[in-house]
Amino acid sequence: MTVRVQKYGGTSVGSPERLRAVAARIKAVRDGGEPVVAVVSAMGPTTDQLITLARQVSRDPSDRELDSLLSTGEQVSVALLAMALQDLGCDAVSLTGGQVGIHTDDRHRKARVLEVSPDRVRAELDQGRVVLVAGFQGVNEAGDVTTLGRGGSDTTAVALAAALGAGSCEIFTDVDGIFTADPRVVPGARKLDAVGYEEVLEMASLGAQVMQLQSVEYARRYGVTIHVRSSFHNQPGTIIQEASQVPNPQVITGVSYDPKVALITMAGVPDRPGVAYQVFSALAKNGINVDMITGQMPQATITNMSFTVHEDDLERAVALVEREADYLGAGGVSYDREVAKVSVVGSGIASHAGVAANMFGALADAGVNIELITCSEIKISCIVRQSLGPSAARAVHRRFRLQEAGKSAVS
Ligand code: ADP
Ligand code: ASP
Ligand code: MG
Repeated sequence: MTVRVQKYGGTSVGSPERLRAVAARIKAVRDGGEPVVAVVSAMGPTTDQLITLARQVSRDPSDRELDSLLSTGEQVSVALLAMALQDLGCDAVSLTGGQVGIHTDDRHRKARVLEVSPDRVRAELDQGRVVLVAGFQGVNEAGDVTTLGRGGSDTTAVALAAALGAGSCEIFTDVDGIFTADPRVVPGARKLDAVGYEEVLEMASLGAQVMQLQSVEYARRYGVTIHVRSSFHNQPGTIIQEASQVPNPQVITGVSYDPKVALITMAGVPDRPGVAYQVFSALAKNGINVDMITGQMPQATITNMSFTVHEDDLERAVALVEREADYLGAGGVSYDREVAKVSVVGSGIASHAGVAANMFGALADAGVNIELITCSEIKISCIVRQSLGPSAARAVHRRFRLQEAGKSAVS
């Protein structure tokens, strides 16, 4: 029989009452006769609290030890959930990422899943038990605990669904599904019934934390359909699937807003071949993703280069860029945390004229200055002042009439 793979996020298991409510949901599925594997996140703000705790004992905690520490958050919730299920008379067992055979590379804190060997899960299911898995973690070749990056429990669930041949996976969270924008930032945002992998990949990489990027990549690669839905009621949520199967695809899928970006500028860079390679390869070797890049040419022989990184990578990126600037004889390095990225995402952007003009018009009307722009076939992103970010996202959402079903302003 096909296994039902579910994942419950941090808010969904944020208190003893919530854990008991989730236990009751899982029991109802099990009582219906289906084998269940449920992946669980750490309770509420636990992961953030553990990071703060680490910083209170060490100025620069090592990634290996952080992984040992952070993985405990999920172990607490999964053990408690097993107890709650046992209390309801439902046989359940809690297991860590290592115990369920999640093998990763050894990039601590940003590990990627390489392989899943689910023999232990199968053996427990064969005994009629509900299997509860601590999300967000795996083990590397040396047997050390790794974590999969923030939001990584989504990836644990998708990887297990693929390994068990489940075909689909339910992601239970604190919103009703995937919306045209973060409903906490854009109150008029509308829930989507179905959306393609590519659009969600783009939304995730542009800061919509509802699904972790790696999990959607994994789902697309292994053909796992994802159902994102609320853990607070039983209404259907959003299905993430192949774009070709999405009924009534829209030109614009949604608007993303990401305040967790920082802008780095290297001034007075000698304008000669190889300079960009030198700087960006140093960042890449250290696992730092660079997003939007621009070069200006105030004089013929020197130039300024600006680019964005994730806020969490800022300190390490600045240290690396300062070293390269010294080596290249550049003027200096400055940075700005007070920026945010607002983006429109949609698979129809490349084939429809006027999307960029509409977006820039909406920002102009809202009095928002654009500091940097990037475009691809499927998105247009603008860097704006962080204080204006939410109103910029709302203005763009309104301009494309995304609050109304099937009424994108570009058609
Ligand atoms: P969980 O703890 O269940 O994994 P997350 O906090 O990681 O939940 O993700 C859910 C949150 O994602 C929502 O509370 C919402 O604020 C945010 N979010 C951002 N963009 C979107 C979007 N386009 N649709 C739905 N939620 C979004
Ligand atoms: N607890 C981890 C985090 O907060 C993983 C997850 O919730 O998916 O990022
Ligand atoms: Mg999450």
